[in-house]
Amino acid sequence: MTEAAVTDVRLAIVGSGPAGLTAALYAARANLDPLVIGGVPAGGQLMLTSEIENYPGFPDGIQGPELIELFRKQAAKFGARFLDDNVIGVDFTHRPFVLRTGTNGDVRARSVIVATGANARWLELPNEQRLRGKGVSACATCDGFFFKGRELVVVGGGDSAMEEALFLTKFATHVTVVHRGPHLRASRILQARARAHPKVSFVMDADVVDVFGKETVEGIVVREHGSGASRTLPAQGLFVAIGHDPATEVFRGALELDAKGYVKTHDITRTSVDGVFAAGDVYDHRYRQAVSAAGLGCMAALDAEKFLAEEVPLPVGPPPA
Ligand code: NAP
Repeated sequence: MTEAAVTDVRLAIVGSGPAGLTAALYAARANLDPLVIGGVPAGGQLMLTSEIENYPGFPDGIQGPELIELFRKQAAKFGARFLDDNVIGVDFTHRPFVLRTGTNGDVRARSVIVATGANARWLELPNEQRLRGKGVSACATCDGFFFKGRELVVVGGGDSAMEEALFLTKFATHVTVVHRGPHLRASRILQARARAHPKVSFVMDADVVDVFGKETVEGIVVREHGSGASRTLPAQGLFVAIGHDPATEVFRGALELDAKGYVKTHDITRTSVDGVFAAGDVYDHRYRQAVSAAGLGCMAALDAEKFLAEEVPLPVGPPPA
């Protein structure tokens, strides 16, 4: 459902994953009359996730899209409105802030919550997307449990790859980390832990060139840089841990971003612009869980509510002669 264009709002929420929709729920219940500009497609990373077993309150698990639908329904029940559109430009230099949308014109907002999330990077292998959710994953915490007694491959040389490999040893019989370089980028302590683990081995200086399998993953093809030779690693799962890209392009120049493009915050949700708050993976590159993003969405809404309650009313009427 998309609302007709709404031009002036007290609070605009950009993004409609767990962070944005939880912010919408709290803001709606605080009578802030929030407008969620949800992005197209709406719903964020959970829309691409199948079974979620670690969101509290769902002991039998829930499908990602279904959880998003429930979040949205709950926020709408208290009056949150939705615009299924993309924000394509912003002006945060004065208030009300201006958010330019793809097809619904400009939205003016007295405060904004940025909850646009981040996207996992993929390897762009020929069969990677076909086998997503069928053995290919970018989240060990989400999917590791489904790989009991399996052999797995993790790609990447950073902290995430080490953490994912270590986490997966709880379920897998063996985890092979494949890294494209001769040295790992991960912190020494995580490297040391992974190297010392009896279930973890490393293939360095090698690229993963494909993943194959009819219905589910059956093996991974790697090519070693030195010899140029390709070989197959038998595995039933491929975990891609090569980093995430925050969805912040549209805020570049308007908000302070860190070197990797994540929104910089202080006091948890406050950005470099007074009245603009951030929630979820758009600044949290550490925890990246649906439940932690939802928690940050709640915090951003409470902070926006306080901001709007304390704001100095702007002068009304024509300027003095
Ligand atoms: P990252 O540090 O950017 O590491 C990404 C890894 O993937 C690098 O080893 C990189 O190789 C490799 N890579 C990138 N693109 C690739 C490609 N197309 N093909 C093959 N390999 C590719 O990302 P991250 O590990 O997700 O960590 C992100 C941030 O979160 C970091 O600051 C990290 O310290 C932090 N983090 C911290 C913890 C913790 O402290 N417990 C846990 C997770 C993450 P190269 O090395 O060759 O560039």
